[in-house]
Amino acid sequence: MLNINDLADDLRIGQRSAISRAITLVESSRADHRAEARELLGLLTPDAGGAIRVGVSGVPGVGKSTFIEALGNHLIDEGHRVGVLTVDPSSIRTGGSVLGDKTRMPTLAVSPDAYIRPSPSAGTLGGVARATSQAITVLEAAGFDVVLIETVGVGQSEITVAGMVDTFLFLTLSRTGDQLQGIKKGILEIADVISVNKADGERVREAEATSKDLAGALRLVYAGTKDQWVPPVLTCSALEGTGIDTVWSRIIRHREFMGARGLRDKRAQQQLDFTWALVRDELDQRLRADPRVAEMRAEIREAVLSGEMPAATAADQILAAYDA
Ligand code: GDP
Repeated sequence: MLNINDLADDLRIGQRSAISRAITLVESSRADHRAEARELLGLLTPDAGGAIRVGVSGVPGVGKSTFIEALGNHLIDEGHRVGVLTVDPSSIRTGGSVLGDKTRMPTLAVSPDAYIRPSPSAGTLGGVARATSQAITVLEAAGFDVVLIETVGVGQSEITVAGMVDTFLFLTLSRTGDQLQGIKKGILEIADVISVNKADGERVREAEATSKDLAGALRLVYAGTKDQWVPPVLTCSALEGTGIDTVWSRIIRHREFMGARGLRDKRAQQQLDFTWALVRDELDQRLRADPRVAEMRAEIREAVLSGEMPAATAADQILAAYDA
């Protein structure tokens, strides 16, 4: 029998095996584990909340793991303790995990001041989000004062991560014209800081041009708004370690811009949004698992596909079966 009090004590003093066990516990979907996880989180929550929570996103190959490795080491040199978590949409489909693989961050993986945890494969994005946000609490209680959350691709997983962090960093590559149009919209909604990575060798000028274009586009979008944070656009080379400290300084500036009160409000609103997201996810699970719904699934499918039954009628029937 797991003693939750002991586990909480062990992880508060930073014992790695306790941290791992605690995160495994919060990742579990078993009902008894969920109850233990709730108890644990109840004990840890007073010690949590102290970290700078940063999302790091960008397409595969943009250099996220190289960047996190460089930033993580930079922060550790400054005396921070750095936790790395990932939300990996591919783990949801395949059960495997590409992001957060420890071999992608070799020096951080062996640093006593870093803790890397690959994405859980918890079945649904909601499940992964639940596990990840609870893992943040575990890491904060264990004394990590910076938590980096890596994710990939523009879409729901990025929006999910944006809902868990204080500052969202978007890494991108040199692009021109049309390609720029494509990324702008998605970025605008969530990015707080943008950096064009791989600004090294022959790509320095290209990267700087991209950063200028993007900054110009952002200025247009934010023109006329007052007292609003305009995401700065920087360049960096994760490989050479240049520009990393500037990216970090903008992350800190974004925090200062929000202020203590703004940050508190943001986190409170995130909790509320997350509450409803979890409820929706759970309802979705229950609907899928419901035997009455399962029973009629094939029939409904036939009826809708053949055009016999309108979608609204089919939906009503499914809900009636579920409510019964
Ligand atoms: P991720 O998929 O976003 O995590 O990207 P990785 O960090 O795995 O990097 C993908 C490839 O790009 C690797 O071969 C890296 O060595 C390379 N890379 C990452 N950052 C830089 C950089 O700043 N400059 C250059 N030239 N290559 C980089």
